[in-house]
Amino acid sequence: MGDTRVGLVIEDDHDIRELVRVVLTQAGFEVTAASSGAEGVLAAKELDPAVITLDLGLPDIDGFEVARQIRQFSDAYIVMLTARAEELDTLIGLESGADDYLTKPFRPRELRARVAAMMRRPRSTSEVTDDLNAPLGGAGDDANSYRHNGLNMSYDSRTVDVDGQELSLTRTEFDLLHALLEAGRMVRTKADLVRRLRDEPYDVGSYISEADERSVEVHMGNLRKKLGDSAQDPRWLQTVRGVGYRLAPERS
Ligand code: CA
Repeated sequence: MGDTRVGLVIEDDHDIRELVRVVLTQAGFEVTAASSGAEGVLAAKELDPAVITLDLGLPDIDGFEVARQIRQFSDAYIVMLTARAEELDTLIGLESGADDYLTKPFRPRELRARVAAMMRRPRSTSEVTDDLNAPLGGAGDDANSYRHNGLNMSYDSRTVDVDGQELSLTRTEFDLLHALLEAGRMVRTKADLVRRLRDEPYDVGSYISEADERSVEVHMGNLRKKLGDSAQDPRWLQTVRGVGYRLAPERS
């Protein structure tokens, strides 16, 4: 694509806004900042940013609602910045379509690492599905597609459908589902999945915090909801208690 990547900072606190601006600029983004939710949604529409950092506590619309609105037209990687560490906030934040969250105060290095990991992950190519030459539902046999119990995933076009119904997944949900489909019946630990989201090899010993693992649980919960899957009688996402997840057995 080769275009300049745009980063958008939606934040009403001047100091944090400037800090994030510096981090994103150093990461190679052309950065625009907005200090209110309404301004942020408009800027997201105009600029089509690749990454958005979003403050939860904004003066007009709260961050959850801003994320929901932006998600209706954008597949940007949304990092929610929250001053409140309570789990409920995290849950709602992730359900609103955010891909990740950071609790303030955070180290610039932390934000930098997450943005760098995100940029290594493939960007959603929804443009491709608009291509008139693309076969409709005919791409079943390429090496990067998966089928399991009525679910089809095409990794190349970043699409998933269940019983013929296309699903709208966040980038993170898509990558988690892909990790499980790829692993077959092998168990992926939560740490494995955190590394997958950071685009690190599964066997490196980088530090994984409890919050990282909890965020995988939350994303899995959201993914399960979108799939209409059941934790008790899973069609796709089987929880391996205390360890992680794997693909449920094939149904005949
Ligand atoms: Ca704020």
